[in-house]
Amino acid sequence: MAELKSDSITAPQVAPLTIRAARLAIASGETNAVALAESYYQTISAEDPKVHAWLALSRERAMEQAARIDDMAKRGEALPRLAGVPIGIKDVLVMQGAPATAGSKILEGYRPPYDATAVARLDAAGAVLLGKLNCDEFAMGSSNENSAYGPVHNPRALDRVPGGSSGGSAAAVAANMAVATLGTDTGGSIRQPASFCGVVGLLPTYGRVSRYGLIAFASSLDRVGPFAHTVEDAAILLGVLAGPDPMDATSAQQPVPDYAAALEAPAKGLRIGIPDEYFAEGLDPEVRAAVEKTADALRAAGCTLHKVSLPHTRYAVATYYVLATAEASSNLARFDGVRYGLRAADAASLGSMYRKTRDQGFGKEVKRRILLGTYVLSAGYYDAYYRKAQQVRTLLTRDFLHAFTHVDAILTPTAPTPAFRLGEKTDDPLAMYLADIYTVTANLAGICGISVPSGNSSAGLPIGAQILGKHFDEATVLRLAHTVEQSQR
Ligand code: GLN
Repeated sequence: MAELKSDSITAPQVAPLTIRAARLAIASGETNAVALAESYYQTISAEDPKVHAWLALSRERAMEQAARIDDMAKRGEALPRLAGVPIGIKDVLVMQGAPATAGSKILEGYRPPYDATAVARLDAAGAVLLGKLNCDEFAMGSSNENSAYGPVHNPRALDRVPGGSSGGSAAAVAANMAVATLGTDTGGSIRQPASFCGVVGLLPTYGRVSRYGLIAFASSLDRVGPFAHTVEDAAILLGVLAGPDPMDATSAQQPVPDYAAALEAPAKGLRIGIPDEYFAEGLDPEVRAAVEKTADALRAAGCTLHKVSLPHTRYAVATYYVLATAEASSNLARFDGVRYGLRAADAASLGSMYRKTRDQGFGKEVKRRILLGTYVLSAGYYDAYYRKAQQVRTLLTRDFLHAFTHVDAILTPTAPTPAFRLGEKTDDPLAMYLADIYTVTANLAGICGISVPSGNSSAGLPIGAQILGKHFDEATVLRLAHTVEQSQR
């Protein structure tokens, strides 16, 4: 612990502000939304030079919204659910008029003319949108080191990565530079950085939250979800974000329960599956011990623990990296120098303009994935790679559906290790891909999950436990995570 002290952000003296506390403080007149937003911008000025979580601040919009909320409070009007709550947005979600880079040079200068649905829903609920958060380029990565704008440093240990790809979103919450943030998760990008930074990160079921206005990486896997200090905050945010959207044909018509109210129900009697496959070789012993302690805490709360088997787990990383790259190669075809952002100068023809723009605009990892994805989709290889991976995806989904016939949720580590050092895996893409081993399965199966803080390593690094739940059963996942959170107090 002592070793990290000089190298990490000073821990806040008071507990970080939650959504409920922020809203109450504004409603009671103890503070106002303008003062609160100002104090978050001050923290950003003080801390972000060390962390580098923010790519752009949207001060004008934030202050206008804060003033609007203060007027409502003054007039005694009922305040919306997120009135005055300062929130940051991962830079793959568009906000009208604000830069949207997706961590890439190729989108430099692009100013989207509309808000993503998730952003619009936060705005309509009264949130104060502080700005855009750093991430791996097009959300491809597990460490935030693939951002074209430089890496994010983990606030808990500045020489470590915050995880990825939503590294800025996790770090901003951990360093108290926002009450909550939005991230996206295609193969772990909410849960893994949440575990590395010691915050809560929620992966909603596929279809639960609209993807409209999300710069697509892999459309069948991408999800939008919240980062927060507490499980209750994540529940409140999901309540605002969830629900059908006519602008996203894959958004689900499922009813949206009151997630925050669902936290009150006791976890007693819930059946928790423990899959052997997630406690195998490569798991850091301290992470294993922390997750075992979390299992004990759930048992103490009256849950029962059951062994389950997810036998196709060993194929998950390979399956993910075939399907995600295939979809990425197709989604990223739209960045051609014509419609968005960067256009290479001095091109002699249209073809060379396309080539030069893509060569200058995309980073190394993005190019690697476009090449891989194009390869697995090409005639002659399609059956061997893409079609096969789709078949294995079905088997992985069936593993979960089968397990969920006997258990209500599944407990695993979120990541095999705590946060690694900056630069530690940058020369070895395979080692980096293996950091996703416990998270990609939920995206392939379409199910929901959460990472909840579950203690620290002996070096003081946060460890996260992952709870996976049935399709559209976020309420159970949140309830269990809340139980884990209570046991940590
Ligand atoms: N780390 C995984 C990848 O690089 C997942 C990224 C994500 O969820 N966006 O693809």
